[in-house]
Amino acid sequence: MTSTYITTTIPYVNARPHLGFALELVQADVLARYHRSTGVQVRFQAGTDDNSLKNVLAAEAAGVGVQEFVDASAAAFTGLAEPLSLSVDDLIRTSSDPRHRAGVERLWQACAASDDLYRRHYEGLYCIGCEQFYTTAELKDGRCQDHGTVPDLVSEENWFFRLSRYTGQLRSLIASGTIRIEPAERRNEVLALIDGGLEDFSVSRSTERARGWGIPVPGDPGQVIYVWWDALGNYLTALDYAFGGENLTCWWTGASRRIHLLGKGVLRFHAVYWPAMLLSAGEVVPTDIAVHGYLTENGRKISKSSGATVDPYDLAGKYGTDAVRWWLLREVPRGADADFTIDRLVSRANDELANGLGNLVNRVVTMIHRYRDGHVPATTARAPDAAALDGAVRNAPGLIAGAVEDFDFRRATEAVWQIADEANRYVNRTRPWDLAKVGDRAELDAVLSELLLACQAIGTHLAPFLPDAAARITRQCAPGGTGLLPSPSPLLPRIAWPVPASAPAHG
Ligand SMILES: [Zn+2]
Repeated sequence: MTSTYITTTIPYVNARPHLGFALELVQADVLARYHRSTGVQVRFQAGTDDNSLKNVLAAEAAGVGVQEFVDASAAAFTGLAEPLSLSVDDLIRTSSDPRHRAGVERLWQACAASDDLYRRHYEGLYCIGCEQFYTTAELKDGRCQDHGTVPDLVSEENWFFRLSRYTGQLRSLIASGTIRIEPAERRNEVLALIDGGLEDFSVSRSTERARGWGIPVPGDPGQVIYVWWDALGNYLTALDYAFGGENLTCWWTGASRRIHLLGKGVLRFHAVYWPAMLLSAGEVVPTDIAVHGYLTENGRKISKSSGATVDPYDLAGKYGTDAVRWWLLREVPRGADADFTIDRLVSRANDELANGLGNLVNRVVTMIHRYRDGHVPATTARAPDAAALDGAVRNAPGLIAGAVEDFDFRRATEAVWQIADEANRYVNRTRPWDLAKVGDRAELDAVLSELLLACQAIGTHLAPFLPDAAARITRQCAPGGTGLLPSPSPLLPRIAWPVPASAPAHG
């Protein structure tokens, strides 16, 4: 049995989740649903990174205990499964899940057994916002380019990981596509980084600097494991890595695909550090690293550190899950940045979901009720003038498969949209109401049957992208026990926008 493991990154929980993370969750969900629909066994893994120093500082600022703080904040992330309709299989929380600490310790010991961990004195500039050391060349006027803050000068004895030893191996794994990094410009970025020379990196900090929060280094209680080492480990620890066994074999060692989704800002960690840690520990490496860009809102960067402005809960509550998912999938270019505005979300939803898809299904089902009392027309006649619509239906599976394989969700949804677009043209061209008027029964049956098949195809192909809307469309287009289609009901209502400040009351 083919099995595929799909992961999102695990976010710090120092602030509320923002739309940029919702993008990653929705992309991962589409992959999970799509692969399942092809008969592949899938595990969709997500979780939260509780062990960051940022969480400690945020808890201090809020005046609550760290565990209490991360428990409450993590709930805001894991709770996104409902408003975003995510088919997530498992969530791991790094501070409280018993699988995690034991797994991270085993990973540490496995790398130590390969002689890849050693202690040395280190001085460096550390940005807590990034949880990362920077060289002065990487700073701008002495400040972190992401956070605009002056990093802390840290001078202490740390554990180091012998990353340099894996330079050649990493290069060939990535250049050969054994680890496939998409889009290609991200692969080139990683290759350039490797060619620039890989230095061993610090993988612990003093317990004091970590404020006593995190996973202690096995056998060295004065040191806490670097939060990134700990966080990257989640991809294995969630599979019971500490204990071995079936989950590890099924979803990692023996999986045909191990797909990590991540934002461009954490590429180095996933494409360099993580595979090197796995090589050191004697484990197989990921097969796919799919990188997405960042979202801005009205041109401004959205991130937890810049103050989240777009709350995915609010959006889904106000505009609906389908509209939010549709915007994320239809408007964000493959691997690139995109600018979010409410206007764009509403226009997409109204133009394509309400007027395009919803209206089409409603028209077709209404006509079948009006002209055929709700009975699905039984016909063997060829529908007239249907080449373009037939083509859109026939080509959709292949186009969607190719696009999903390329992590191009815009192209994938375009193939579904094409069916709706062609079907709406087909209604306007064949004018079933005129056929009904002149009493051309055979031709009307053929046209209605052609249209219903197109609507059913939309229900099927839309499912990985908009599971809720797809289920409604499929129900609406499926004859019940009596052979009748359910009465037409609005499937994808229009969003009232802009809401007038003082809307006149009607009726
Ligand atoms: Zn920073």
